[in-house]
Amino acid sequence: MKIKTGIGYDVHQLKEGLPLRIGGVDIPHNLGALGHSDADVLLHAICDALLGAAGLRDIGFHFPDTKAEYKGINSLLLLQETVRIIKETGYEISNIDSTVVLQRPKIGGHIPSMVEAISMASGINAQDINVKATTTEHLGFAGREEGVAAYAVATLIKP
Ligand SMILES: [Zn+2]
Repeated sequence: MKIKTGIGYDVHQLKEGLPLRIGGVDIPHNLGALGHSDADVLLHAICDALLGAAGLRDIGFHFPDTKAEYKGINSLLLLQETVRIIKETGYEISNIDSTVVLQRPKIGGHIPSMVEAISMASGINAQDINVKATTTEHLGFAGREEGVAAYAVATLIKP
Protein backbone atom coordinates (compact mmCIF):
# COMPACT_ATOMS: atom_id res chain seq x y z
CA MET A 1 0.00 0.00 0.00
CA LYS A 2 1.25 3.49 -0.83
CA ILE A 3 0.27 6.60 1.17
CA LYS A 4 0.78 10.19 0.06
CA THR A 5 0.02 13.44 1.89
CA GLY A 6 -0.54 16.96 0.56
CA ILE A 7 -0.93 20.42 2.05
CA GLY A 8 -3.05 23.33 0.85
CA TYR A 9 -3.19 26.97 1.89
CA ASP A 10 -5.34 29.80 0.54
CA VAL A 11 -6.18 33.40 1.38
CA HIS A 12 -8.84 35.80 0.12
CA GLN A 13 -9.36 39.46 0.91
CA LEU A 14 -12.52 40.43 2.76
CA LYS A 15 -14.53 43.35 1.38
CA GLU A 16 -17.73 45.10 2.34
CA GLY A 17 -20.86 43.87 0.53
CA LEU A 18 -19.51 40.68 -1.09
CA PRO A 19 -20.89 37.18 -0.37
CA LEU A 20 -18.94 35.02 2.07
CA ARG A 21 -18.92 31.37 0.99
CA ILE A 22 -16.82 28.91 2.97
CA GLY A 23 -16.88 25.16 2.44
CA GLY A 24 -19.76 25.53 -0.02
CA VAL A 25 -21.92 27.29 2.57
CA ASP A 26 -23.09 30.91 2.33
CA ILE A 27 -22.43 32.67 5.63
CA PRO A 28 -24.37 35.82 6.47
CA HIS A 29 -21.84 38.61 7.19
CA ASN A 30 -21.19 42.26 6.29
CA LEU A 31 -17.85 41.27 4.71
CA GLY A 32 -17.32 38.81 1.87
CA ALA A 33 -14.40 37.21 0.04
CA LEU A 34 -12.92 38.77 -3.11
CA GLY A 35 -11.88 36.44 -5.92
CA HIS A 36 -12.22 35.33 -9.54
CA SER A 37 -14.34 32.29 -8.65
CA ASP A 38 -16.76 32.29 -5.71
CA ALA A 39 -13.63 32.83 -3.54
CA ASP A 40 -14.29 29.79 -1.33
CA VAL A 41 -11.07 29.76 0.66
CA LEU A 42 -11.67 26.37 2.31
CA LEU A 43 -12.49 24.50 -0.91
CA HIS A 44 -9.45 26.01 -2.64
CA ALA A 45 -7.17 24.87 0.20
CA ILE A 46 -8.72 21.38 0.05
CA CYS A 47 -8.27 21.17 -3.75
CA ASP A 48 -4.62 22.17 -3.35
CA ALA A 49 -4.07 19.56 -0.62
CA LEU A 50 -5.55 16.85 -2.85
CA LEU A 51 -3.58 17.91 -5.93
CA GLY A 52 -0.44 18.25 -3.82
CA ALA A 53 -0.79 14.74 -2.43
CA ALA A 54 -1.13 13.38 -5.97
CA GLY A 55 1.86 15.40 -7.17
CA LEU A 56 -0.34 17.21 -9.68
CA ARG A 57 0.68 20.87 -9.22
CA ASP A 58 -2.02 23.19 -7.85
CA ILE A 59 -5.47 24.67 -8.34
CA GLY A 60 -4.16 27.64 -10.35
CA PHE A 61 -2.56 25.24 -12.84
CA HIS A 62 -5.76 23.26 -13.42
CA PHE A 63 -8.26 26.14 -13.12
CA PRO A 64 -6.46 29.36 -14.13
CA ASP A 65 -8.05 32.58 -12.82
CA THR A 66 -7.37 34.15 -16.22
CA LYS A 67 -10.03 31.90 -17.78
CA ALA A 68 -13.52 33.37 -18.16
CA GLU A 69 -15.13 29.94 -17.65
CA TYR A 70 -14.05 30.00 -13.99
CA LYS A 71 -15.39 33.51 -13.27
CA GLY A 72 -17.81 33.28 -10.36
CA ILE A 73 -17.78 29.46 -10.56
CA ASN A 74 -19.08 27.46 -7.59
CA SER A 75 -15.93 25.97 -6.09
CA LEU A 76 -17.79 22.74 -5.29
CA LEU A 77 -17.52 22.12 -9.05
CA LEU A 78 -13.76 22.68 -8.87
CA LEU A 79 -13.60 20.19 -5.99
CA GLN A 80 -15.64 17.68 -7.98
CA GLU A 81 -13.27 18.02 -10.95
CA THR A 82 -10.22 17.80 -8.65
CA VAL A 83 -11.51 14.52 -7.18
CA ARG A 84 -12.04 13.19 -10.72
CA ILE A 85 -8.42 14.07 -11.60
CA ILE A 86 -7.15 12.38 -8.39
CA LYS A 87 -9.13 9.19 -9.06
CA GLU A 88 -7.53 8.90 -12.51
CA THR A 89 -4.22 8.28 -10.71
CA GLY A 90 -5.63 5.16 -9.04
CA TYR A 91 -5.38 6.70 -5.58
CA GLU A 92 -8.29 6.88 -3.16
CA ILE A 93 -8.84 9.74 -0.76
CA SER A 94 -8.30 8.54 2.79
CA ASN A 95 -9.17 11.74 4.65
CA ILE A 96 -9.07 15.53 4.67
CA ASP A 97 -8.40 17.78 7.65
CA SER A 98 -8.65 21.55 7.48
CA THR A 99 -8.67 24.78 9.46
CA VAL A 100 -10.41 28.04 8.53
CA VAL A 101 -8.80 31.18 9.98
CA LEU A 102 -11.41 33.90 10.38
CA GLN A 103 -11.78 36.50 13.12
CA ARG A 104 -15.48 37.11 12.66
CA PRO A 105 -18.20 35.76 12.51
CA LYS A 106 -18.05 32.51 14.46
CA ILE A 107 -18.57 29.73 11.90
CA GLY A 108 -18.60 26.67 14.15
CA GLY A 109 -22.36 26.26 13.70
CA HIS A 110 -21.92 26.02 9.90
CA ILE A 111 -19.29 23.27 10.01
CA PRO A 112 -21.72 20.30 9.75
CA SER A 113 -23.22 21.90 6.59
CA MET A 114 -19.72 22.45 5.16
CA VAL A 115 -18.78 18.81 5.76
CA GLU A 116 -22.03 17.71 4.11
CA ALA A 117 -21.46 19.96 1.07
CA ILE A 118 -17.85 18.76 0.69
CA SER A 119 -18.95 15.14 1.07
CA MET A 120 -21.74 15.51 -1.52
CA ALA A 121 -19.46 17.17 -4.10
CA SER A 122 -16.46 14.89 -3.61
CA GLY A 123 -18.02 11.53 -2.74
CA ILE A 124 -15.75 11.35 0.33
CA ASN A 125 -17.44 10.00 3.47
CA ALA A 126 -18.37 12.74 5.93
CA GLN A 127 -16.45 10.88 8.68
CA ASP A 128 -13.29 11.32 6.60
CA ILE A 129 -13.68 15.11 6.30
CA ASN A 130 -12.81 17.40 9.18
CA VAL A 131 -13.19 21.18 9.33
CA LYS A 132 -11.93 23.31 12.19
CA ALA A 133 -12.25 27.04 12.76
CA THR A 134 -9.99 29.42 14.63
CA THR A 135 -9.32 33.14 15.02
CA THR A 136 -5.88 34.75 15.31
CA GLU A 137 -6.76 36.63 18.50
CA HIS A 138 -7.01 39.88 16.47
CA LEU A 139 -3.42 39.52 15.19
CA GLY A 140 -2.35 39.86 11.55
CA PHE A 141 -4.52 40.25 8.43
CA ALA A 142 -7.09 37.71 9.59
CA GLY A 143 -7.27 39.33 13.01
CA ARG A 144 -7.80 42.76 11.44
CA GLU A 145 -10.59 41.21 9.32
CA GLU A 146 -8.76 42.10 6.10
CA GLY A 147 -8.81 38.50 4.93
CA VAL A 148 -9.76 34.89 5.50
CA ALA A 149 -7.31 31.99 5.27
CA ALA A 150 -7.60 28.22 5.21
CA TYR A 151 -5.20 25.32 5.64
CA ALA A 152 -5.88 21.75 4.56
CA VAL A 153 -4.11 18.43 4.47
CA ALA A 154 -5.21 15.42 2.48
CA THR A 155 -4.04 11.82 2.51
CA LEU A 156 -4.32 9.51 -0.49
CA ILE A 157 -3.96 5.74 -0.44
CA LYS A 158 -3.37 3.19 -3.18
CA PRO A 159 -4.14 -0.34 -1.97
ZN1 LIG B 1 -8.82 30.84 -3.42
